[in-house]
Amino acid sequence: MPVMRLGYARLRVEDLEAAKRHYAETLGMRVTAEGGGRIQLKGWDEFDHHSVQLEEGGAGLAGLGYKCQSADDLALYEDRARAFGVTVERMSKGDHVAVGDGLRVTLPSEQTIELYCEMEYVGTDVGLLNPEIRPRHTRGVDVPRLDHAAITAPEPADVERFFCEVLGFRASERLVSDPGEAKLLASWLYCGQTMHDIAVLPGPPGKLSHIAFWVEDWHAILNAGDIFAMDGTPVEVGPSRHGIGRALTSYFFDPSGNRNEVQTGSYRTYADTPTVTWTADQLAKGVFYIQREFSEGFLTGVT
Ligand code: CA
Ligand code: FE
Repeated sequence: MPVMRLGYARLRVEDLEAAKRHYAETLGMRVTAEGGGRIQLKGWDEFDHHSVQLEEGGAGLAGLGYKCQSADDLALYEDRARAFGVTVERMSKGDHVAVGDGLRVTLPSEQTIELYCEMEYVGTDVGLLNPEIRPRHTRGVDVPRLDHAAITAPEPADVERFFCEVLGFRASERLVSDPGEAKLLASWLYCGQTMHDIAVLPGPPGKLSHIAFWVEDWHAILNAGDIFAMDGTPVEVGPSRHGIGRALTSYFFDPSGNRNEVQTGSYRTYADTPTVTWTADQLAKGVFYIQREFSEGFLTGVT
């Protein structure tokens, strides 16, 4: 069975209390546990224990957890990952708070991916029986859920091949150098039915471009901008639209400089969705469709 989704991101943060204010007060996530230099949080519409784990010390990506459907799937991915030639370790229940047994894989681009199929279930404030459409009391942006992550790679093609061959992801959109000599520069890959569950962008190994939270609609992105202004959150790109994925977007930073995104719109994907190709000469329009320009900082600014 396909991998289900991006389940969690483990982020390194310089100051745990400042990071907690950002994720819990500005973004409005629920703190589900904390201690030992770590804080776990979830969006209001997420059922599992957490989707973000903050880890004190530094900045950047400690790991991404992708939730799988069964132990049989994990065994299959383990065999395929070893055959692919990446480093694979077993992850034991309890290595991470609320997370069951799994695998820890080092990508060709050096980031850590964790595959697991069990996380403690905590449910939502609205419950499952005749639920209200949202919690009555909200905070900040009140992000419903984590959506995707974007990482950088010196050779995005190697990472794309790993996700497709080992984990069964498919590319919804790809950026190539030019139509003739098609060196892959970036890839947007999905396992579920959204446009991407991970993006692989050109850049240094081991780094995070951003994690993205799904929000309801365009107005929620504008509302997020209002909250960022109130809280002094550094905004990199105000409400805008991507050509790639057709998503509505805004980029901003947590206090450690880890880039976050709020995102909505886009389209569904299926096993037969054809792949869109973008060429490098159209990159600015692909990334920011309306302004058709972006600063180098968007690609070089990684943690
Ligand atoms: Ca997704
Ligand atoms: Fe994104």
